[in-house]
Amino acid sequence: MLPLLLLGCSGCSRPLDLPPATPGPGFDAQPNILLVVIDTLRADRLSLSGYPRPTSPELDARAAAGLLFTNVWAPTSWTRPSVAAMLTGLHPAALGISDERQDAIPPAAPMLTETLQSAGYATFGMTANPNLNARFGFDRGFDTYIDSEVMFDWMLKDGADGVSATHNLLPTSRDISARALEFARSHPEQPALLFLDMMEVHEHTRHHTSLMTRSEHQGTFKSPYDDAIRQLSADLDALITDLTNLPGWQDSLVVITSDHGEGLDSHPSVPDSRIHGRHLYDSQVRVPLIVWSPAGQAGTGSVDALLSLEDMPALLTGLAGLTPDPAPWHAAARAHVSLETRFRGMDKVGITDGMWLYIESRDAWGETLPVELQRVGSLQDGPKTDQAAAASAITTPLQGTLSSWLTDNPHAEPHLTEEDLSAEMEALLESIGYLE
Ligand SMILES: [Zn+2]
Repeated sequence: MLPLLLLGCSGCSRPLDLPPATPGPGFDAQPNILLVVIDTLRADRLSLSGYPRPTSPELDARAAAGLLFTNVWAPTSWTRPSVAAMLTGLHPAALGISDERQDAIPPAAPMLTETLQSAGYATFGMTANPNLNARFGFDRGFDTYIDSEVMFDWMLKDGADGVSATHNLLPTSRDISARALEFARSHPEQPALLFLDMMEVHEHTRHHTSLMTRSEHQGTFKSPYDDAIRQLSADLDALITDLTNLPGWQDSLVVITSDHGEGLDSHPSVPDSRIHGRHLYDSQVRVPLIVWSPAGQAGTGSVDALLSLEDMPALLTGLAGLTPDPAPWHAAARAHVSLETRFRGMDKVGITDGMWLYIESRDAWGETLPVELQRVGSLQDGPKTDQAAAASAITTPLQGTLSSWLTDNPHAEPHLTEEDLSAEMEALLESIGYLE
């Protein structure tokens, strides 16, 4: 006889069905803020999105008791310009960030961190992804900022490339959490911002890495990507619990998001679509956003407004009570989000209205179509699922809106970091899949 659990769908999740969002009572004092980027996390791989595997029970519970944003897009599909957009409120085109070696946040770009500093916040940042190191301008507005700095196993040589670096010494989410807690404990007199970028999910293709520290979650789903999410859900939950038990942290705003997704096996006919950076399919640019506060101070429910990571500064300052709008998602809601990637010679632009995704490939790279229209949330398999011609009533207005947007938002000249990329830094970026 089959065990009962095989007859049911023991692993199946349903999307969190939350009522429309309502603002919370607000905070008694300026809240502490924890902003976590789970690097490379696809929105649809969290169980709260209805993914059949229970990848994120702890994050699901936080979302159910807080605000769950269900329609948030990164304006690009790789780390540096995306997180720069999140911290400045500016589109990657305005920031001019497209080259991995030297492009940095322009000094004139406003930083959320500086806004918070001037409101009295102590600010701490730590990144496991070297794309966000201080050399690229990410330390501005932080009292303490800790770069990704790992040692390489130079003993491992790869004949073709000369050097193949291991990266099992990237800081783990637990390392990062410990440093953040240390900063929070040492600044009890000020509200604090903690900004953290964690790489466990990014490193899923190298699941032997020591980033996977929780043996109980290794191999849970027989998918390194899903296993990494499972671990991070537990790790982040522990951090949130520890933080909000600290004196003063009952008033806190916890924000969990990502910088881009990952193609995985969602585009089987499209070359080089398994990772991120080269394409603009929703697997790679749709990101999760969960906001939780200990007593629901920021609000509860589901927000389906179309938002970009560029809206983060407005959302965060509104939710924290630094601006008078307790429901900033209404003012921030967009009719469209514009997308681009110029990663490694790519030149793709796109636009979404939350239901459809229109992409122009100007790079003539691979076998991608010059123009395609894909339905959001469905299989997006390049030419095989393209509806640009069939659904011209949808394609034409999106094309027109994108064209106007591009005219109004020309790509800025990049601000180049003055530091030369050291051999070590180059190897570090290469080792995690950047710099060809
Ligand atoms: Zn990233």
